[in-house]
Amino acid sequence: MGVLTKKVKGAEDILPADSYKWQFVEDVMKKEAESYGFKEIRTPVFEHTMLFNRSVGETTDVVQKEMYTFDTKGGESITLRPEGTAGAARAYLEHALYNNGLPVKAYYLLTCYRYEKAQAGRQREFHQFGMETYGAADAKADAEMICAASSIFERLGVKNIDLEINSIGCKNCRKDYTAALKNYFESHKSELCPTCLSRLDRNPMRILDCKNESCKNIAKDAPTVLGYICGDCREHFEKVKTFLDVADVEYKVNPTIVRGLDYYTKTVFEFVTDCIGAQSTVCGGGRYDGLIEELGGQPTPSLGFAMGIERLLMVLDAQGIEIPKPQTCDLYIASLGEEAEKKAFKFIKELRNASLAAEGDIVGRGLRAQMKYADKINAKFSMVIGDDDISANRASVKNMATGEKFEVPLDDGFFKEFIENYLENYQKSVSISI
Ligand code: ATP
Ligand code: MG
Repeated sequence: MGVLTKKVKGAEDILPADSYKWQFVEDVMKKEAESYGFKEIRTPVFEHTMLFNRSVGETTDVVQKEMYTFDTKGGESITLRPEGTAGAARAYLEHALYNNGLPVKAYYLLTCYRYEKAQAGRQREFHQFGMETYGAADAKADAEMICAASSIFERLGVKNIDLEINSIGCKNCRKDYTAALKNYFESHKSELCPTCLSRLDRNPMRILDCKNESCKNIAKDAPTVLGYICGDCREHFEKVKTFLDVADVEYKVNPTIVRGLDYYTKTVFEFVTDCIGAQSTVCGGGRYDGLIEELGGQPTPSLGFAMGIERLLMVLDAQGIEIPKPQTCDLYIASLGEEAEKKAFKFIKELRNASLAAEGDIVGRGLRAQMKYADKINAKFSMVIGDDDISANRASVKNMATGEKFEVPLDDGFFKEFIENYLENYQKSVSISI
């Protein structure tokens, strides 16, 4: 296949026959976020490279290996966003959103770009849903954030997904932990990959996140962070757990979770499952109390999470969770003959003006083929207009699910009659399905 008809490796098309699944889960996510008082934020696909270097962290895999970075014709270094938090934080500062009162709560649905080895559940362009809260130091904010992510899985009927939480402490208590880690990894220097060797001095915690088998093996027995966190961080973590208990959200403390991005402090969490192959993280997040300051703002305790939509859809699929197919066409009007075609065209336009979904033939099919098509697109109602109907000035509309028919006039009365019958029938069927 030539390059003109082949997508770039690691990118996927979402085709018309599947997009309803995306729309469905996105809708669940948006509604959930809005019920927690979050409003949508949309930021650019690209940002200054420095933003990601500074926030995601110079020593992370994302910055070191995975970013799509290029120089523009004007000589600026630009990067396609590898994640959503940095852009949202930049926008929070640039537009002084803190002036509207804290906390500021924003959610996003966006594409991300990472130059990774493409495989199932790991793409180079992928989609994330995320939520961010700025200016909330209390542990209740952490619990609230985790509750929101957890509810999304629950509303979608996802089973066998485990919430794992940890605290990686604040800047202060991290010092002791980093020293302990450095000490430990120094004694295993010869078994570390070259990237991790360079991390040893600069950011030994990143070694815990390395995907290299040999590094993973050594990391298994490394000291864990919970033994090193300070009193404040410990108290914060206990309170997060208390409020998760209050909200009946089940969790497991996993002291090995550190997350792959540098900006995290205190609480970190992941939702993991083994139903899509090897253990896989569908959602990850945590607190990032230092990020806003790092970007030049006032100290602003903040937190968030991001959920990978491809992985979520894989989980739904693996668990046999069916997403309801939308019935999008309210009325299909088939027509035969010049006069009938005009009538159909006019009615279809009127229905669309009233925000109903109506369709008719635009490819020159015969009557039978038109009716077959109405069936194929799963129209709620169909109607045929032929010469006889034109002279009788009446035609019948058929409820495609029940086969029931009712007559409508083919003049100005059509609209009213169809709407009345349509709405009556439609509401009946809706009230049954609820
Ligand atoms: P992983 O450890 O699997 O590489 P990550 O720690 O890099 O994940 P985050 O940066 O926390 O992931 O992103 C949050 C979520 O985005 C992940 O839990 C996952 O669902 C999704 N995600 C991350 N990278 C990819 C990718 N390359 N393709 C598809 N989804 C991804
Ligand atoms: Mg990754």
